[in-house]
Amino acid sequence: MMDILLMEPSSTNKRRRIADKLRGHDHTPFLSLADIKARLKNIRRVSTEHLNSHGQTLLTNLNKHTDVKVMFANSAVQAAAEIKRINEGRQIAINKSAVIANEIVPELVKYNLNIIETYYDEFKPFDNQLDEHLRLPNLDIESVLNAFQIASHPDISRKECVAKNGSKDFTGLIGIAAISASDGNVSLFQHMGNTGTVYEQAQKIILVAGLDKIVWDKDDAVFQTKCMAAFGWKGLPRPKNLYYKPNAGISIRNMPYEISPEDTEQEVHLILLDNGRTKIQKSEYKDLLTCIGCRACTINCPVSTFFHSSGKWNPKEYLYHYVQGRNPSTDLCLQCKTCRMNCPLDIDIPGLILNARADAMKNGKLPLMHSLLSNFENIAKWSSKTPFLANTLSKNALVRNLGETFTGVSSKRKMPEFQNLTFKKWFENRKNKEGHYNR
Ligand code: SF4
Ligand code: SF4
Repeated sequence: MMDILLMEPSSTNKRRRIADKLRGHDHTPFLSLADIKARLKNIRRVSTEHLNSHGQTLLTNLNKHTDVKVMFANSAVQAAAEIKRINEGRQIAINKSAVIANEIVPELVKYNLNIIETYYDEFKPFDNQLDEHLRLPNLDIESVLNAFQIASHPDISRKECVAKNGSKDFTGLIGIAAISASDGNVSLFQHMGNTGTVYEQAQKIILVAGLDKIVWDKDDAVFQTKCMAAFGWKGLPRPKNLYYKPNAGISIRNMPYEISPEDTEQEVHLILLDNGRTKIQKSEYKDLLTCIGCRACTINCPVSTFFHSSGKWNPKEYLYHYVQGRNPSTDLCLQCKTCRMNCPLDIDIPGLILNARADAMKNGKLPLMHSLLSNFENIAKWSSKTPFLANTLSKNALVRNLGETFTGVSSKRKMPEFQNLTFKKWFENRKNKEGHYNR
């Protein structure tokens, strides 16, 4: 069986660090923020440059494990069809990873499959673990990084749980934080307990890894997962908010164990997903593949809640799905550049958004409002030839409402009055017989 590591926050290391400080045993962190970022950038650079070769090495290594069924999917459509086949009509419990929420689930819902979101459910039986961790001050980046520890090996817990209880009648669909090409080690992350619970209790397990999640070895996979958790930490809503978040779906915790140990599937399915990643690797947007999914770019972005109707896209995802053709425009970005400052990999999302807008303009794909407003001289030229008609229309309520609907220009906005007398002509008219201009 491949080794699956599950990481989660623990307050132990933070407590130890704070106790040291209080006793005067202060120390400089071994790893500075610059060191951590440099190592992370190197891991991500290698991963992005070797997307295909790492994928091939990983496939070769995974095929040695008879208990893992591996599949390569070119698209989310293909992956969803495979998941449907494996699932055989059960409910599907998911974790909150971006690949599952943003790429796979939109395809699965087309099959009318019943999806159970488990993330917020884990905060219901809320103990003090996460709350205590959050209340402790952060002394340095190293203590934050080391606050995320390998909590368990879900494959071992699953075997124990199945032998004792059997399993529940659902499929666990879990997005991977990192997977190592050289040995197939899988690294998962959870804030409380949902991923571990899904892994232990599901009758079938399907793991999904985007090609960009493949790193070279286990150390890199663990380090990348810790960074994902540590840099995204500040963007996590506080437990109080999480606690009160209503859980719209069914809780897997309340489901009974219905499948006997003998009938519980022990094989794990793993889907390696391209879904446009190799195309992006060859494009000017390839830096997006270095993203670790920490969501730090969402912190202080003034408009990210408007990026998607569900509020789930961060700035990187807003652009990523535009490049992939799943988001019609990048208009909402205000170019404040906060996301770039917060990104541990310094991904220039605002710069790439500007490139995307320039490409759209070049290819004539600008939204109607932008096309009209950026070519206002044409509107002015034709309107000034027939000013009476243009001014009448621009004041007409029906025309203004239609304008708002189709171009996004508010019907309350006052338009300038058009005249057929140009400024040049008006100026010339002021010349007297002597050739001087009247004051
Ligand atoms: S530059 Fe755009 S995407 Fe980035 S934080 Fe500002 S508004 Fe959000
Ligand atoms: S783009 Fe956003 S999610 Fe990706 S690494 Fe940077 S901050 Fe994290």
